[in-house]
Amino acid sequence: MKIGVLALQGAFREHAALLRRCGAEPSEIRLPEELAGVDGLVVPGGESTTMWKLIVLYGFEKPLLDLAGMDIPFFGTCAGAILLAGRHNDSETEALGIIDISVSRNAYGRQIDSRETNITLSFSPQEPFNALFIRAPVIDETGPDVTVLARYRGKPVLVRQDTVLAATFHPELTEDERIHRYFLGMCTAAAISRTRAVPAPCPSFSHSVIP
Ligand code: GLN
Repeated sequence: MKIGVLALQGAFREHAALLRRCGAEPSEIRLPEELAGVDGLVVPGGESTTMWKLIVLYGFEKPLLDLAGMDIPFFGTCAGAILLAGRHNDSETEALGIIDISVSRNAYGRQIDSRETNITLSFSPQEPFNALFIRAPVIDETGPDVTVLARYRGKPVLVRQDTVLAATFHPELTEDERIHRYFLGMCTAAAISRTRAVPAPCPSFSHSVIP
């Protein structure tokens, strides 16, 4: 699996290192043409306003929407989740609108601007996941097609809609590989269904003479 990691700003190196540990081939993406051939894309945490300015400056907006339209899985963490959201409360930053969630930036309040806490992953509930929140956004609303995979204080913190995964915390800053492996599973499933959607030519059939 070749997994792109948007490398404009933020924690892209940490995502790439964790993906490599999980057996994937990470590829740091700095220009839109480098998106060609990726099986998935990580949009890392960092600062969403800055990242949005760089997305516009480098002409990434349409290529990212095109990639999502091709059912290539996306994984947004923290600022990345803000950029993938349908709606948010920052007038300076647009949202790509590829997952039906509403988020509020920095909305947990000062006391948990940054904190570590245990959460339960619905797809791997046996062991708690140590989630690291760094000036995290709050997911205020989720649309009907969004599945909540983990909550903290009653609010969704890990959500999925079809091929899009979004976390308000930073799984790339811990040793726990479960969420990245879950995302790689999404990428494998999407790659298989893309191959099925385009029927491979059948040599024996195409060479046969049909009377
Ligand atoms: N507070 C940042 C923002 O609103 C997100 C922080 C992060 O990605 N850790 O963009």
